[in-house]
Amino acid sequence: MADSNVLDAPRTVVVIGGGQAAGWIVRTLRKEGFDGRLVMIADEIHLPYERPPLSKAVLSGDADISTVRLVDHDAFASLVEAWQPECAASIDREARVVRTASGREVHYDRLVIATGGAARRLPDALVKTSHLAYLRTLDDAVALGTRMRESHGKRLLMIGGGWIGLEVAATARKLGVDVTVIEGASRLCARSVPEAVSAFLLRLHRDSGVDVRLNASLVSLDDHAGGVRAHLADGSTLDANFAVAGIGLNPHTALAEHAGLDVNDGIVVDEFGATSDACVFACGDVANHPNAWLKRRVRLESWANAQNQAIATARAVLGVRAPYAEIPWFWSDQFDVNLQILGDIAPGYTHVVRGDLEARRASLFFFDGDALRGVIAINAARDLKVAKKWMSQGRAVDLAALADTAKALA
Ligand code: NAP
Repeated sequence: MADSNVLDAPRTVVVIGGGQAAGWIVRTLRKEGFDGRLVMIADEIHLPYERPPLSKAVLSGDADISTVRLVDHDAFASLVEAWQPECAASIDREARVVRTASGREVHYDRLVIATGGAARRLPDALVKTSHLAYLRTLDDAVALGTRMRESHGKRLLMIGGGWIGLEVAATARKLGVDVTVIEGASRLCARSVPEAVSAFLLRLHRDSGVDVRLNASLVSLDDHAGGVRAHLADGSTLDANFAVAGIGLNPHTALAEHAGLDVNDGIVVDEFGATSDACVFACGDVANHPNAWLKRRVRLESWANAQNQAIATARAVLGVRAPYAEIPWFWSDQFDVNLQILGDIAPGYTHVVRGDLEARRASLFFFDGDALRGVIAINAARDLKVAKKWMSQGRAVDLAALADTAKALA
């Protein structure tokens, strides 16, 4: 990895992207005293905003741009020269220039790529309807929310039983919309949680009236009776008034790739956010970093990573080199359940359950031998907070204390 420690202090920093990571880059650079030129190039019209409410409060109409944005308009305008909506088209690393789709150019001393990603699309050949939506941006969420709030008693077909799928399904049920979720895999959220938690999520959704179909392979999505008809590989069909697909994220790496930066499941960065070019940094959903807790490289698509990796990267841009070494943390809210995941949930680990999954209040502690490596907390935020302290301190865990649910962990 290139050594960004030997460079002169930057006079111009350019940030490509306008999401949460980009927002925290801008905020942190100014907070750390950077008083040079700061340009943010972003393709959305909105100032940086937080995504967690998009699949919940924005859909239900309880939040909008004023509640989800990172900083208010005037405050942000005083921090950064925002080129919006504008699309960075190429990076000339030799000349240190970014060119945009509309022909503008800006020279940089340091460049931060925080381009995030786009919702993965169903293959064009499979989609023969206009009643299909994706959910990634605030505008997506506002449009989908409007449709959902007008759809009481109608049916939503949710394609994908991952985090978007389950959160949208839960919000739709709250709004009185009938929901069918189709998931290609044999269990829900299979890539991020173990079997027991997938089973818990399945029960939660079915008990809340969601029709969940597993191992459901979509063959085509057609217009039908003013709505959609899904054809599945087993020959069955499903009808709905509208459909949403939440089938993963494609990181926006093309710009970096064309600029000759190392890309491998995301833009490859070091623990300071530096890419293979010492003047170019990357962070957030698009960056693949060496994670000290996981002891492997990883690209994390989470709110906490977008914020905290951006803060560490902004400091490194200014020469303040504190490695980004957070324990990965993620949460999801569905119906009356707050689910949080901390650390490493590797398939080979043993786990101990504290509490009662049936009662929707439990924590699962994951061990590699004696070492606590990860926790999934279901309506048990306090357990997770205490476990984070133990994990950070490398403390041995008292199994008897875990089993005793009458006593709070300390
Ligand atoms: P995701 O969590 O990766 O889930 C996508 C799911 O769709 C997977 O289970 C996937 O199965 C399944 N799938 C893929 N192709 C399918 C098909 N053709 N038919 C049916 N199912 C299919 O991705 P997401 O839910 O779209 O979310 C996108 C990103 O936003 C993720 O990074 C997610 O973590 C993030 N997000 C976070 C939160 C939160 O922080 N609470 C909330 C929403 C979204 P396979 O794994 O087998 O491909």
